[in-house]
Amino acid sequence: MTGLTMALSAYLRSVAGPEFTYPGVTGAGRPSNRHPSGGSPRRGLKAWLLAAQGGLCPCCGEGLALAEAEFSHVAARGPKVSGFIPGNVYAGCRAGNSRMAPEWTDGPAVEATMYVGGEAHTVSLPGPKVLIKGVDVQTPDHLGRPDLVPTEWPCQTTGGFRVYAD
Ligand SMILES: [Zn+2]
Repeated sequence: MTGLTMALSAYLRSVAGPEFTYPGVTGAGRPSNRHPSGGSPRRGLKAWLLAAQGGLCPCCGEGLALAEAEFSHVAARGPKVSGFIPGNVYAGCRAGNSRMAPEWTDGPAVEATMYVGGEAHTVSLPGPKVLIKGVDVQTPDHLGRPDLVPTEWPCQTTGGFRVYAD
């Protein structure tokens, strides 16, 4: 099964969490570049994705060489460079990836009152992050070929990914 749908996009948005840290999602970390066998799970995953996409970029629909392909996230990878779960990552071109790369800024500070030993203290907390550029959660509307996004991987646990087509 392949294809990014609105439902999948909403699901991925929900598992990403408010700060895009993928809380409680096991195996979502970026795959290692090294493996005892000598292969690279990270390179292997990228090669597998591109092959599953028929060598095409879901973003623009054009043919894409493996050397030019970058991991592209549907729900942003966030500060922990996470979110490597089926359906959330595809091999995309540099132009599309950089055009949609999200950038955030801290929202307006929020004042809160803390009681320490019965005394009230006012503290200032950073406000929720605000998207200032790019796309934090891609929907089918952002992609020329959303149908190409692979939604099932041969092995969900990236640490155990056994495709080393490098
Ligand atoms: Zn593209």
